[in-house]
Amino acid sequence: MITLKTPIQKLPRIGEKYLSKISHLNIHTIGDLFFHFPARYVDYSNLMPISQIKTDELITIQGKITKNKTTRTWRRKMYLTEILVSDATGSVKALWFNQPYLTEALEEGREIRLSGKLSKGKSGIYFSNPSWELASRIPTNTGRLVPIYPETAGVTSRWLRWQIQCLFKLNIEFFDPIPQEILQKLHLPDLKRALFWIHFPKKEDQYLLAQKRFAFQEMFFLQIKSLLVRHQWNQEKAVAIKFNEKQINPFLKSLPFQLTNSQKKAYLEILKDLIKEQPMNRLLNGDVGSGKTIVAAIALLATALAKYQSTLMAPTEVLALQHFKNITTLFALHKITIGLLTNSYQIIKKGNAAEKKITRSEILEKIKKGQVDIIIGTHSLIQKDIRFKNLALVIIDEQHRFGVSQRAFLQQEASKISDGIKNKIPHFLTMSATPIPRTLALAFFGNLDLSILDEMPKDRKKIITQIISPTDRQKTYNFIQKEVADSRQVFIILPLVEESKILTETKAAVQEHRRLSEEVFPDLKIGLVHGRLKSEEKERVMQNFQENKINILVATSVVEVGVDIPNASIMLIEDADRFGLSQLHQFRGRVGRSSYQSYCFLFSEKNSGLAQRRLKALEKSQNGFEIAEKDLKLRGPGEFFGTRQSGLPDIGMENLTNIKLIKISRNEAENLITDDPFLEKHSSLKKEVDTFYQKIHLE
Ligand code: ADP
Ligand code: MG
Repeated sequence: MITLKTPIQKLPRIGEKYLSKISHLNIHTIGDLFFHFPARYVDYSNLMPISQIKTDELITIQGKITKNKTTRTWRRKMYLTEILVSDATGSVKALWFNQPYLTEALEEGREIRLSGKLSKGKSGIYFSNPSWELASRIPTNTGRLVPIYPETAGVTSRWLRWQIQCLFKLNIEFFDPIPQEILQKLHLPDLKRALFWIHFPKKEDQYLLAQKRFAFQEMFFLQIKSLLVRHQWNQEKAVAIKFNEKQINPFLKSLPFQLTNSQKKAYLEILKDLIKEQPMNRLLNGDVGSGKTIVAAIALLATALAKYQSTLMAPTEVLALQHFKNITTLFALHKITIGLLTNSYQIIKKGNAAEKKITRSEILEKIKKGQVDIIIGTHSLIQKDIRFKNLALVIIDEQHRFGVSQRAFLQQEASKISDGIKNKIPHFLTMSATPIPRTLALAFFGNLDLSILDEMPKDRKKIITQIISPTDRQKTYNFIQKEVADSRQVFIILPLVEESKILTETKAAVQEHRRLSEEVFPDLKIGLVHGRLKSEEKERVMQNFQENKINILVATSVVEVGVDIPNASIMLIEDADRFGLSQLHQFRGRVGRSSYQSYCFLFSEKNSGLAQRRLKALEKSQNGFEIAEKDLKLRGPGEFFGTRQSGLPDIGMENLTNIKLIKISRNEAENLITDDPFLEKHSSLKKEVDTFYQKIHLE
């Protein structure tokens, strides 16, 4: 039996040579070939008598070859195949260049079809390089809507059409992963029909409907996956963290500021989750600087007051240290013991007593005995064999922009941690500083609850954002000189370079660093971080920057500059147009973290419409959610995610912004899962979903 999983080698028609060529298109199985969808279609369905043909239109004619000659052009470098085709109403000439085999294929006397546009020459109108086929063949390359495929060297659309058409003649078992009832309800074609329609549609409606079906399929899979994860999570139990809200009040009063409304809403949502026996699974999403730490701190405090342990994990040691400093300051008036455990730090601090450096085994022992209430560390904390006495809450500060798969992984690890409480798992909260557009949140985070900080603390000064043209470069340097004289600090971000060119990037960074140190700011201290530095080296530079031993930090874009440097007031970005808006906004968020007026300078040599329009959006708005939506709209999800290798086929990518589709898919997935929570009745569908999910690797 041939199925979609059958390797393509099993097809006798495709030889070795082609096998290796199509592997470049990621075609390895029959299913892959079926799912190599056309990028577009050309409409050759307009069949005309030769007497009525006109230029500038896509047309098809059918007739007999009445003349055929091949010549070599005067430079003797080019073959020219020329035929005359006649029907009952007239005749027309057609030409091809450099396809000598056509001489034989287009023998005089044969009946053929030609499709294309007519060109106008000295001796009348003619077809130049038209699509052709023998009239006896089922219209495939001419006379219909013809699919145009993504191609690769040596693999043409013509060849793909032929192969895919042959597939439909085989006796293939098409297993449709979408239940029949759903297809019927939504008026979508079944798999076999949809595949046929997407490759060989008779009319536009057919391929549109087929595309709709496949878009639904992807979104449906995605939703099923997240509901399955959610369902599994809901089977687990957590400790209900009992506490009295009044206990939080003194802490809130001790803050030097009022919480924003969205901070209040977020912490109440979290506290409501914590008192339940069902483990929390929540994402706290808020722009850089929106005040996520306080919200997390309230959850940590509530947990500590209820006499349970909690952890807060950051992506890097520097950030972990920063969290430790923040949290210990915030809780100085409480008798809470806070520990910092990373590769280089093992510190504990209780209330306003002094910090105490202890050994690794000592801190591990204390954690196990429950003598540390809040443990702060890096993500590796979760994976190490650390034993807790009664860990009830895990909070993770995320590092990746859209760490969908990373998040799922951490969530899994968090549930496996030796929390010390029998048959329970900790409540789980992640924090992301990348504002996620609504549609994407809906599409990807269906399995978790969201708290959103979409307003900034009131006292925040606007960061003055300016697009700087090359002629104003020196002026900007002068301005920097002045700010540094006022003891402010500066970030300079170098342009984005593809991952594969990281060496070039490093070189460029080293060069720019030298240029700035020697020519532009000879009397300033300039630091450099790039992707090639060892992590200790990176941390050392960051540390120096934090301590204001460096005036200007030059960094490549690969470097996570997530640390808080309140004294930095200028963010300068080279070739800003190469970055996504959201990313630029992230960079900008590195300044403006104090009462000093801050600036973001976007260097750009491009003054094309789109590039300027995008950067202008940044000048205008300081709201990360607004910017993310705009970014998504302007660049599309593929670019938005920052990587072309996200694994989602383009057709699906487009649909990531289609709210209606997402809602319908979610609805159907919910119905299905309610009815069959573990997909026991739909085991093949479950397999398909898992395979599909593995293919998605979002950053
Ligand atoms: P992020 O969301 O990027 O983690 P932080 O939690 O680090 O932001 O907060 C940034 C700064 O804003 C901190 O210095 C914090 O003390 C301050 N902050 C937080 N909430 C408020 C508020 N409601 N009003 C004023 N300042 C605040
Ligand atoms: Mg933060």
